[in-house]
Amino acid sequence: MLFNRLLRLHRSLNLRLRLLLVNLLVIGISLGSFAAIVYLCQAHIFVRRLAQAAADSQGTLLPEVIMQVFEKVNLESIAIALTVSTGIVVLLSTLLACSIIHPLRVIERAVKQFNSGDLNARVPPDSIPELNQLGLTLNSVANRLQDIEERRQEMIGDLSHELGTPLTVIRGYLEMLRENTISLTPEITEQLYEEAERMNRLLGDLNTLSRIEAGSLSLRLKAFQPQLIIQEVVTALTASNSNLNCRVELECPANLPQIFADPDRLRQILFNLVGNAIRYTPEGNVTICAWANGNHLWITVSDTGIGIAPEDLPHIFERFWRSPTSQAITAEGSGIGLAVTKRLVEVQGGSIEVESLLGQGSTFRVTFPLACSAI
Ligand code: ADP
Repeated sequence: MLFNRLLRLHRSLNLRLRLLLVNLLVIGISLGSFAAIVYLCQAHIFVRRLAQAAADSQGTLLPEVIMQVFEKVNLESIAIALTVSTGIVVLLSTLLACSIIHPLRVIERAVKQFNSGDLNARVPPDSIPELNQLGLTLNSVANRLQDIEERRQEMIGDLSHELGTPLTVIRGYLEMLRENTISLTPEITEQLYEEAERMNRLLGDLNTLSRIEAGSLSLRLKAFQPQLIIQEVVTALTASNSNLNCRVELECPANLPQIFADPDRLRQILFNLVGNAIRYTPEGNVTICAWANGNHLWITVSDTGIGIAPEDLPHIFERFWRSPTSQAITAEGSGIGLAVTKRLVEVQGGSIEVESLLGQGSTFRVTFPLACSAI
């Protein structure tokens, strides 16, 4: 009970204090053992040596002889006590050093394994709280590195898949042109251009994404009224919308307050959200609304399209993710647009969320800080 309390108290102290206490304890034990050995040995040896001296001098013990025996015994017992207590100090100090060095060696081994690329190594728990904490931190670094490595490999796989499709089409056409099995028509030129554009868009999006993640994307933030850009995007996408069964409507007052954002990035965000809404609404309506509320401008892009299943919603902003439903209706899209959109909104101080019902449609809600609140 008392021992447990002392142990808890000891663990609550910091490492420096604990080491000081343990060293004081070792010194105390060695001094105690020294004193005890001297005390016990002296009397015992003295009696034996005195009896020996008495036997040697046939019963007559002179005071000088007793004094000589006492001095000799004194030195002898001090030498024994010194040897034993030094041994105890060395033993206890070695045990103490080992209890610290052993976990440090384990940590060193794990770090060497991380360094050589083996991220499966983990540091086991340790009874010394500071070393235990160091181990936990290293384990969490290893988990993060492992996670990054897995995502890097996944990304390389996804990227080669996404670039592979347009490249196969381009290569196929070029081979047929080289062998003169087809001739170059405006349709083929258009298709080749489309595939090259698709790769270009993908690389552009990936470049933006990596620059945002590295914190090196330069934004041209300024105060401006957003309605012109919203209208421009809606007009451009409505004009190029070949799906006659999808109606696009805009509800946006002409006097929206100024927002503090990058106009080009706002255009990119809207192109992606409205473009997706049209693409994933084979039949129905797409409605874009904008209004100011509190310190924010709100923009919603709602559609009555294919919607997103509840289990798919958490993945919607992951790069290269495409819902099985959308893949079934179109081969277009690379699953990178929403990942870029989310990060672009967030680096401009805004937020994005989505609500959706499978088979009924989706609503993407984006906010941007108003210029008056940002200054
Ligand atoms: P993509 O180029 O494939 O459209 P995004 O990152 O923009 O890439 O979108 C990722 C996935 O999210 C899409 O493939 C689709 O499955 C789903 N998605 C995005 N917007 C909508 C929407 N409005 N309705 C239904 N699904 C959508």
